[in-house]
Amino acid sequence: MSIVLVPIGRVNPAEMRWLQESLKEYFSADVVVGKRIPLAATAWNPARSQYDAEMVLESLLLSGEAAGCDRALGVTDADLYLAGMNFVFGIANRGIAIISQHRLRQSFYNLPEDPGIFRRRAVVEAVHELGHTFGLAHCENPRCAMHFSNTIADTDRKGPAFCPVCRSWVATVRNSGRPDRAGAPRCGVGGEGPTEGNEMARFSRKPE
Ligand SMILES: [Zn+2]
Ligand SMILES: [Zn+2]
Repeated sequence: MSIVLVPIGRVNPAEMRWLQESLKEYFSADVVVGKRIPLAATAWNPARSQYDAEMVLESLLLSGEAAGCDRALGVTDADLYLAGMNFVFGIANRGIAIISQHRLRQSFYNLPEDPGIFRRRAVVEAVHELGHTFGLAHCENPRCAMHFSNTIADTDRKGPAFCPVCRSWVATVRNSGRPDRAGAPRCGVGGEGPTEGNEMARFSRKPE
């Protein structure tokens, strides 16, 4: 199985490499870092000073960087939102996902910077979003990577590993010979995808 990590906008290359190594380990997959794509100017919402997550995800799909892989994960430093929500840590749909590093830094919460905490959060969010691309829904186990995070405290409570139930689901999907299960098209291919992995209701600290 192959996963491509795509930097979107300006992203620290060292963080991409670290994520690459971590995801190799967690998914036992080939993980490569793809070519950087720009943050879509059309996704910028000046009134909110945030980027529209769905439009950024769409730009990843259209860029072609996700083509030829089983899964694609875009990584951006931009703050993301969805209509009706004040922010999202990430979204997933149609076999591809994106995460935002913006709210993973301690400095965002007016705390001293901690690179270790930042990296742990990044891998938790990456595993979570990739989990959705396997058709996993949110998990009730608060320690499981697939547990719903409403705040960064929830992210810190869980680990980057799947619980046994979620882990066996991912293994089943992979062993089925269809790592692109649930009708999810291969990366970079359009068409109707599953909605179960859609993050529409996620991470809303404060619905608008
Ligand atoms: Zn679980
Ligand atoms: Zn989720």
